[in-house]
Amino acid sequence: MVTMSKVYFVEVKDGIIENLEVLLENAGVSNLTGVAAVKTHMGERKNKTFVKPSHVKRIVEVLKINGGDPFVTDTTTMYKGKRYTAMDYYRTAFAHGFLPSYLDCPVIIADGLKDEAVPVNEQVEIAKSIYDSDAMLVVSHATGHSASSFGGAIKNVAMGCVTKRTKIYQHEVTRPIWNPDLCTDCDKCREVCQFDAITEDHELILENCVGCESCSYICESGALKSPEDESEKLQKRLAEVTHAVIRNLPYSNCIFVNFLIDITPFCDCAEFAPKYISPDIGVLASNDIVAVDLATIELIGKQEFQGDPTVQVREAYRMGLGELEYEVVNVRL
Ligand code: SF4
Ligand code: SF4
Repeated sequence: MVTMSKVYFVEVKDGIIENLEVLLENAGVSNLTGVAAVKTHMGERKNKTFVKPSHVKRIVEVLKINGGDPFVTDTTTMYKGKRYTAMDYYRTAFAHGFLPSYLDCPVIIADGLKDEAVPVNEQVEIAKSIYDSDAMLVVSHATGHSASSFGGAIKNVAMGCVTKRTKIYQHEVTRPIWNPDLCTDCDKCREVCQFDAITEDHELILENCVGCESCSYICESGALKSPEDESEKLQKRLAEVTHAVIRNLPYSNCIFVNFLIDITPFCDCAEFAPKYISPDIGVLASNDIVAVDLATIELIGKQEFQGDPTVQVREAYRMGLGELEYEVVNVRL
């Protein structure tokens, strides 16, 4: 018999704030008791499309009503932006409105001041504060992604619940390929690389390269290009790391909430001005990470993404993280 997961859905026309409580109740928020990590992406500086603090605040309220003791959290980035250190991330989070006084709960950068983590295998280190919680509610902004095609709950867990080292492990597969015949020696790649990973002759130093792709974006001649199979490889690593995180957390009570609002072609690490690949749709919630991401992709439309956005979902299904068969249940007050 085919197992069908339930994915609860509030349509944007019915009002998001008004219906977050009924959405989360249906998804099982009463199971998230004790200290509950509300894992979200609080946006790179100049990004405007991250999940709004007002929505996160309402989620925090609903968790408290249901017996949870929530804190809002994320981890530092592997690239050197305005969230590279915990101190930078606190400044960015507060500037974006994620203030403890507004949210009425602590804001904690989960990997601490210096890579505080619990290693669960050779590659995967779970950020300490997320590991030490009693439950987790993963709040994801559904977006396209230049390398992984789609970013939702799987990507949020894989990239967002771990240390820099585990982020680099996933991004390794996006290291660019350099073609010396096309190189014009403009030096722009060296100017943009934050990891001393390009020699004066513009060759890649593989042991330094974290696969951030800044150089291939800026290279106008086409001398630096992303590997052709990077999307499939990166999506499989996302599923692999998500599996390692979810299976090694000391708790199993997790809910995944995807916001299909301000749906941009890039994730919230991008500083670009908003541009949308779809009109606003609503919010989905489920205790099944596979079903909620697949429902997100199918509501937006698979054709709106670069490449095949379902590789990560099918890989996560293959690893036993959830179901590909789902039923969307509309809810509202
Ligand atoms: S940006 Fe491209 S063309 Fe310019 S030096 Fe680097 S590899 Fe060569
Ligand atoms: S992808 Fe390019 S910019 Fe990023 S670390 Fe590697 S060489 Fe540097």
